[in-house]
Amino acid sequence: MPARSTSLTLVTTVTTAALVVLSGCTSTKPSGSGGSSVELVNSGKLTTCTHLPYEPFQVRKGDAIVGFDVDLVDLVAKELKVTQEIVDTPFEGIQTGEDLNAGKCDLAAAGMTITPVRAKNLDFSAPYFDATQALVAKKGSSFTSLASLKGKKLGVQQGTTGETYAQKNAPGVTTVQFEDVALLLTAVKTGQVDAAVNDNGVLFEYVRKNPDTEVTAEFETGEKYGFGVRTGNDALRKEIDTVIKKARDDGRYDRIYAKWFPAAPKK
Ligand code: GLN
Repeated sequence: MPARSTSLTLVTTVTTAALVVLSGCTSTKPSGSGGSSVELVNSGKLTTCTHLPYEPFQVRKGDAIVGFDVDLVDLVAKELKVTQEIVDTPFEGIQTGEDLNAGKCDLAAAGMTITPVRAKNLDFSAPYFDATQALVAKKGSSFTSLASLKGKKLGVQQGTTGETYAQKNAPGVTTVQFEDVALLLTAVKTGQVDAAVNDNGVLFEYVRKNPDTEVTAEFETGEKYGFGVRTGNDALRKEIDTVIKKARDDGRYDRIYAKWFPAAPKK
């Protein structure tokens, strides 16, 4: 009877869909032997939370999102025999661990500095990149230190270590908060702020492409970036560490570094 078989098909479809939703996540085994299985929030994908743009760590190029972090996480995805899918989401939900806890993504890769506060809310991979804070201003400006900005406007990016650094080290300077680094750097260019603080890797890339701006100071904050996973997700955290260590040992890390930081003297 056609009517009956139609409804049966419908029930089957609904049941399958419900099962997929109920099961919530799937697991995959790394191709290397001995690894425990890694649970993923979306089947067949390694889902990454990031906050765009953060060039050269992650930036949209046409239809793709590319960058240093993207390439490193791709190595992990390859090992897990899945593909990386990137979710663009505000930095606040990333650094508080909220997105990871909500199952929005498996890991966070956002040029994110390892800090004690963040480490309470999410687990970090081993450090994969060294960074410091830096100051950017229009070329030829006299703003070469935080002291020189007394009574002036200093742009900061909301929720970042750069914002915290400016709040602690720039007394008498008016900080102006921006939601992302693109808005922050545009504000420097247009003169809405006199200078801005952000991570050195991002600012050096920006001034390379915007010769009317320059990095006028670096502050040795000794930061290290880590990839974030949900607290207790040791299987994925260890897998990331294994893959990055292997890539450091066999030269793939260096090649990726040279690709995204062509002018960088150190790492
Ligand atoms: N490294 C900085 C931090 O962790 C900036 C990160 C970012 O803006 N994506 O706060």
